[in-house]
Amino acid sequence: MEAAPPEVPRSLLEADLPTLRSFIVARGGKPFHAKVLRRAVLERGVLAYERITDLPAGLRAILEEELPIFSGRLVDERTAADGTHKLLIEFPGRGESETPISVETVHIPPARPERDPNKGATLCVSSQAGCPVACPFCASGLLGLARNLRAHEIVEQYVRGRALGPLSRSVVMGIGEPLLNYAQLSAALDTVRDEMGLGGRKLTVSTVGFPDRLRRLAPDKPRFQLAISLHTPDQEQRDRLVPAMAGVPIEEVLAAGDDWFEKTGREVTYEYVLLGGENDSEGHALRLRERLSGRRCSVNLIPYNPTPELPFYRPESGSPEYFRDVLVDGGLTATIRWSRGLEGAAACGQLRLVR
Ligand code: SAH
Repeated sequence: MEAAPPEVPRSLLEADLPTLRSFIVARGGKPFHAKVLRRAVLERGVLAYERITDLPAGLRAILEEELPIFSGRLVDERTAADGTHKLLIEFPGRGESETPISVETVHIPPARPERDPNKGATLCVSSQAGCPVACPFCASGLLGLARNLRAHEIVEQYVRGRALGPLSRSVVMGIGEPLLNYAQLSAALDTVRDEMGLGGRKLTVSTVGFPDRLRRLAPDKPRFQLAISLHTPDQEQRDRLVPAMAGVPIEEVLAAGDDWFEKTGREVTYEYVLLGGENDSEGHALRLRERLSGRRCSVNLIPYNPTPELPFYRPESGSPEYFRDVLVDGGLTATIRWSRGLEGAAACGQLRLVR
């Protein structure tokens, strides 16, 4: 059972507005200081109390002493040659039974900044510590699920990520299966949209596509773009490649995607990791084309990013292009996504849980 929230918040991001207000008032501040504080940190990205000069100095000193901005701690960071920056953030456990866990967040600057100087980075955030889905090609599920991230831990990834440079987009495509931690994710995304100004079409959530969960979300005003990891047109193969979805007919996943489009007016993107010799044949492309034909959607083909301990490899050169052309010739929209951050192990499927 989840422990009751502490009366004294352990970090600023963990405290909701009423909690923050009473904390501040109890220390001689004014109720409106709570909003000033959240605005400074979330909207303007000021990450040191001493620089929030619209608060009284005495209050700033108390905050400095008693209320860290973050609950997490940056334990490692790496920049790849292409500018992709990976953060490893450790979050404490709550109570005695929980050990600290670390998750990864990746800041991906635009590939060709000269094309559009106003374009900011894409931030890739994690939704769970580890992942219970256990796709055999993905590093994120190698240790299973440690625990769900809490809303403020997801928000913290955004705040720390934005401190590395302005964001234009964000994708919930880091560690974890977002729909298995939807309540916390959803609370976090509200904060990110309302207080940090990043949401709607600029935000993509990627999932293996549990049909009933998707249907429960769809009536919502769409707060994000939806990506569904499909990976193969063949049932038996999907049961193996996405074990948590074994037995769920591909047609049901696609039907839930169609419903999403009907209810939200936003097209679904199907993700397809291209695994050499596994799901990258012409037959796969033709069967995928058949499955998707007539549907309003697009396909992102992701050539596999290798993980040393896993027995999968990248398709041969030229094969992703051929695969794409088969889809495009059938009237589909398909794009190849060459991952960034490969050599820093910051690319799709290379992010992992550390404990
Ligand atoms: N669990 C969610 C979020 C992960 S998003 C989901 O599965 O959709 C990351 C995307 O990268 C998913 O489509 C995932 O299947 C894919 N992926 C996983 N491992 C990969 C790898 N090693 N190389 C390329 N893509 C990978």
